[in-house]
Amino acid sequence: RAKDHGRNNYQLYAAEMSSLSFERLALGNMLRKALDHEELLVHYQPQLDLRTGRIFGMEALVRWQHPDLGLISPLQFISLAEETGLISPLGEWVMRTACAQTKAWQAAGLAPLRVAVNLSARQFKHVGLIDTVAQVLDDTGLEPQYLELELTESIVAENAEATIATLRDLKAMGIKLSIDDFGTGYSSLSYLKRFPLDLLKIDQSFVHHMTSDSDDAAIVTAVINMAHSLKLKVIAEGVQTEEQLSLLRRQDCDQVQGNLFSKPIAAEEFGQLLLQQATNERWQHLLRTGS
Ligand code: C2E
Ligand code: MG
Ligand code: MG
Ligand code: MG
Repeated sequence: RAKDHGRNNYQLYAAEMSSLSFERLALGNMLRKALDHEELLVHYQPQLDLRTGRIFGMEALVRWQHPDLGLISPLQFISLAEETGLISPLGEWVMRTACAQTKAWQAAGLAPLRVAVNLSARQFKHVGLIDTVAQVLDDTGLEPQYLELELTESIVAENAEATIATLRDLKAMGIKLSIDDFGTGYSSLSYLKRFPLDLLKIDQSFVHHMTSDSDDAAIVTAVINMAHSLKLKVIAEGVQTEEQLSLLRRQDCDQVQGNLFSKPIAAEEFGQLLLQQATNERWQHLLRTGS
């Protein structure tokens, strides 16, 4: 009886395993086709300077527009892309699309705008990364200071010589480097002084609870103060309420990003937002100088 039971369990487990990996395999093939058939798109979420209130840049976030399944979140396919090795071509496509779009907005007089692109750990380790980044900037004509690469703590946690060399190469090109989801990794803080970073992105889990949980509030304060002592800028991710915003302002946070301002939106919609901002500023300028 017990033996039967055990065997059944094993069979169930095996069946689940194979169907799971079959599913992953099928999804992997679908994703490969999506990349070829232009089913991927990039959405943009504005990032604002807390002092001026201006949109100074945006984060590029990939989506998969499947003909039958609809819009698929990156949370559902980035890890798959990593497992299947598709992350390098996918990541290059996102970077190219985002840089070309940013250059187009700059050329339309909406300059200066900076775009932040997420880099996965596997993509970071790819030997061709530096050449790819250089090629994308060259092809699109975007100046390097307008590109920011968001790294995960898992990338910098590896204290390998190769990691430091890659970061120095990127920095030497003039690219900005940030740490995404700061505070959620298990790494030591010593990398902050060794690596040539520009910005820390406070993870949204701290931001969401900073107005109700004093521990989260303390962490946000500590991150902002530490960053400033290290001459780094700080951006708070996932700002959703005015209460969070005013607390962040009081704590001297530099930049904000979150649904309070805008969810990630399609390029066309983002362009409208930029145009609106430019128009407002022009009118404000006219009203000031004309009075
Ligand atoms: P992330 O880089 O930390 O990006 C921020 C995520 O938080 C985005 O989710 C964004 O939509 C969401 N978010 C922003 N503000 C708010 C808010 O106020 N409230 C809430 N609840 N959420 C907010 P998204 O677009 O689903 O992306 C999820 C993750 O997928 C990203 O997290 C990033 O790790 C990964 N990802 C997205 N695009 C790419 C890409 O092109 N390459 C790589 N390697 N990873 C990507
Ligand atoms: Mg990010
Ligand atoms: Mg993040
Ligand atoms: Mg995240």
